[in-house]
Amino acid sequence: MLLEKIENFDIFRPKMDSTKEVLHAIATFTADISPAFPYVNAELGGWDYDQTNQALLLKLSDGKWITLHPQKIAIRGARDIEEAKALLAWIQAQINDIYARREAVTPRFTSQAGLKVMEILKLLPMTNCKACGYAACMAYAAALREGEISLKACQPLWEEKYREKREKLEAYLQSYGWRALDEI
Ligand code: SF4
Repeated sequence: MLLEKIENFDIFRPKMDSTKEVLHAIATFTADISPAFPYVNAELGGWDYDQTNQALLLKLSDGKWITLHPQKIAIRGARDIEEAKALLAWIQAQINDIYARREAVTPRFTSQAGLKVMEILKLLPMTNCKACGYAACMAYAAALREGEISLKACQPLWEEKYREKREKLEAYLQSYGWRALDEI
């Protein structure tokens, strides 16, 4: 097991704004979990993977983030202590499970942060019809990049006349390991 023991787990309110009703948490350990990063990035769709500094950022729903460092896991935005503990247990289990299966996982070194809003926009119908709930395709493209909405929400894109654009957009998103935030 790659990450067997967590030596320390500190849960605290963010110093920048102690009035915020969220908690941050930092777990530290002596094991080096960085060998798991390309596999975790592949399976969980990391938002940003910095190979130089060995940091993998996972963006969860509801404004929560988990950042993996070789000997540290940082959790941002937990609602309470129980959720912080649950998130740590979840990511620890994911790291161990994915690393144990690594031979069957294709490692991924790209990340969603490389996606460009303008490239996404070019592959949308660009009619600004508002059917997705956004005022314009540009706003939808920005939300899509962040993983805040699914591709299905742009109904016109699924019409036959936009098939080529849709397929190119799906391929573009997949090349960066894109996923909607509610898919974890
Ligand atoms: S539904 Fe699609 S085409 Fe219409 S505004 Fe939204 S992104 Fe643009």
